[in-house]
Amino acid sequence: MYCSNCGKKIADDAKYCPECGQQVVKVTVVRQTKEAIIYSPYNGTFSVFKVLGFIILIIAIIVLVIFAGIIPVKELLGITISLSIIGLIFCIIGKKSRRKGLAIAGTIIGSIFLAIEIFLLFLAFAPVE
Ligand SMILES: [Zn+2]
Repeated sequence: MYCSNCGKKIADDAKYCPECGQQVVKVTVVRQTKEAIIYSPYNGTFSVFKVLGFIILIIAIIVLVIFAGIIPVKELLGITISLSIIGLIFCIIGKKSRRKGLAIAGTIIGSIFLAIEIFLLFLAFAPVE
């Protein structure tokens, strides 16, 4: 290793630098993981996206269930598909947060729900025989 004061190469187990007498401070290099470097300053933001995304998805599902038969199906699907896409994107962004359980759940639920909505949309636009 090298002396932190004078930069001379010294023995790894030396307590004092033989060159300048500086006490050797063992510098433990804390290896920050890539995750820690990238996510720590933004973790809060990603968590907000994750929670918001999940809430938006739940709202989209509730809206679809409550307003089915009240609002014309194409308009209803337009609203809920828009909400689902926003919720899904937020959950995907939220997956960058440290605790990503909710974000993963939201991504899965959102994907399935969006697939169902698109299927319903196809049915709604399908010519009636
Ligand atoms: Zn030294």
